[in-house]
Amino acid sequence: MSSEIIRIHNKLKSKEISCTEFVKGKLKELEESTSNSANFLLTESALKRAQAVDEKIANGAEIGLLEGIPFGIKDVFLLQGEFASAASDFLKSYISPYTATAIQKLIDAGAIPIVKENCDSFGHGSSSENTVFGPVKNALNEKLVAGGSSGGSAVNVAKGYTLFSVGGDTGGSIRQPAGYNKVYGMKPTYGRISRYGLMAYASSTDCVGPISNSVEDISTLLNVMSGKDYHDQTSLVSSPISENIFKRKNEAPKYKIGYYKNFLDSEAIDPKIKADFLKLIDQLKLNNIEVIELDFYDSGILVSTYYTIAMAETASNLARLDGTNYGNRLTAESLKESYSLTRSENFTDETKRRIIGGNQVLSQGHSEEIYLKARAIREKIEQSFIDEFQEVDIIISPVSPTPPPKIGDNLNDPLAMYLSDAYTVGFSLGGLPTLSAPFGTETGIQITAEKMGEEKILEFVIYLRDEIYG
Ligand code: GLN
Repeated sequence: MSSEIIRIHNKLKSKEISCTEFVKGKLKELEESTSNSANFLLTESALKRAQAVDEKIANGAEIGLLEGIPFGIKDVFLLQGEFASAASDFLKSYISPYTATAIQKLIDAGAIPIVKENCDSFGHGSSSENTVFGPVKNALNEKLVAGGSSGGSAVNVAKGYTLFSVGGDTGGSIRQPAGYNKVYGMKPTYGRISRYGLMAYASSTDCVGPISNSVEDISTLLNVMSGKDYHDQTSLVSSPISENIFKRKNEAPKYKIGYYKNFLDSEAIDPKIKADFLKLIDQLKLNNIEVIELDFYDSGILVSTYYTIAMAETASNLARLDGTNYGNRLTAESLKESYSLTRSENFTDETKRRIIGGNQVLSQGHSEEIYLKARAIREKIEQSFIDEFQEVDIIISPVSPTPPPKIGDNLNDPLAMYLSDAYTVGFSLGGLPTLSAPFGTETGIQITAEKMGEEKILEFVIYLRDEIYG
């Protein structure tokens, strides 16, 4: 599919549709949907914004590309004056005091937020079942999970309820649900988009990114959201993605492609996903693209390293939620008991599992053995990416080893759920840009480049879309 944003922009400009009617239609679709993808509709503010766009058009003024375009926001971002629940009981009635930088940039460009989207609570999960708003249902088959944690965001885009959505990706949360619902999802280079106003899960890998129906829109949205932000010391200056990548059709990009053989040798991989991926490798070779086999860390090591670090960071980040400053508060006999009651009653089981795990790996006597070891392995992983990108330009892999499970199937088996992140978490530890594209295997293809290599990724995915799967 080509740009949905451009298609709607042209209709608004030519007055074929009114922005108010269009936004109303999307809100209605969300309201009537049975997908559980929406936590809060932003009806009042959205209609006010839409009316302003209509007035501008009626007055003959030019509108920018994003003006009047309705979008969704994963419910872990702050939008001033609106709920930000993190899909938890803790923050179910918490109202944002300010707006996240990435969201503000979209609003400044005229885009209209219409929904806060369901997700795994605090980003903890891979299925969007860890939520107090009910499990999100897959856009293609309601019996299956939507993936996670940005499940509501991927479903809304796939269903066409939003033209795009903004997700958060710590270890795969944009890429995996995008793959499960057959849309595009990009986790940019760590720091390319400011994290200010995104509730912190694992601060050292948290990224903000777009989910959409086309590569063109991913590129537009990246350009709008990127940039250095003095509110986030890890944010970076970046150059915009060039329009030229959309003009060079028919030519095979002169990239060297790598893939991890051990990802495919793993026992956990679904045979059909493996076969389809290998077919892609053969097709690339037939098209005279150089493809190199690489060896990487075993997925067990990647998953344990990621979860050790992610749990340690989330235990620290969520320590601020004790009922004093934010969200719900339950009182008991003493202050300590009040903290304990508040936290026990308001976090989900999965979040509690991670807080306990995180505090355990950070505790005296264990931190050297576990946490510091994970940090050391992470450094080695980062180094091995640097080495590999001396040899290849792009690394491709399936997005996940298995197709989406049925809702409820993995709920009592957290380990099975953690393993579904086997192919995504490594790139998060490396801070690399990586995109999941909705073709190639049942859950898509993941395309990764070195830091700040977003343009290469997008150029290559256009080639795949038009020349291989076109
Ligand atoms: N599924 C992974 C986890 O639970 C990734 C989640 C995310 O990226 N927020 O940690």
